[in-house]
Amino acid sequence: MTRKFTGDRLLVATHNAGKLEEMVALFAPHGVQVVGAAEMGLAEPAETETTFVGNARIKAHAAVGATGLPALADDSGISVDALDGAPGVHTADWAETPTGRDFVMAMTRTWEALERARAPYPRRARFNCTLVLAWPDGHDEVFTGVMPGQVVWPMRGVQGHGYDPVFQPDGYAITFGEMGAAEKNRISHRARAFAALIEACF
Ligand code: IMP
Repeated sequence: MTRKFTGDRLLVATHNAGKLEEMVALFAPHGVQVVGAAEMGLAEPAETETTFVGNARIKAHAAVGATGLPALADDSGISVDALDGAPGVHTADWAETPTGRDFVMAMTRTWEALERARAPYPRRARFNCTLVLAWPDGHDEVFTGVMPGQVVWPMRGVQGHGYDPVFQPDGYAITFGEMGAAEKNRISHRARAFAALIEACF
């Protein structure tokens, strides 16, 4: 039996401002106030697992352990078919520099890898999102969402975050970077995982 979340404030175990903003918007119609990990002064745990669910569990349970509150974590990334699923769970790592994350560099790296592989068009990819809602007694619930599409070049659009300017979702001629937040929050991988979470736990 799926466990229900009964509070009115939820700790979202992410330090990613773009993800947090999407979560705040997604929860708003459900009367749930979202508190971010940075606001609670939480440290970012190392993501040492090799799967989205493994890393989402690390983040959710670390936040529960630090606060004693139920916590929701998101692990997500883009998997490119012609790159054997890379960057996948390493999506954020591809943006890492000594002075912080550089997503223009990460998107360039992705496109250059596709060029080197002489990948055929369309350059199929999907965004994955795994959400884990964890409670202090160790129980958790897992939800996933996928958004298929293609990697395009050059980058287009300044909205969203991360790899949004090079991802064109199926059924659209615009990238996530060109899409308004309301539309992205209606169709994205995160929106899909979120809909399953709401249906089951809220
Ligand atoms: P992690 O889940 O914190 O390991 O990071 C996942 C990474 O995937 C983020 O840093 C983003 O770069 C990327 N990502 C996840 N969801 C999205 C999205 O909706 N748009 C663009 N990039 C995303």
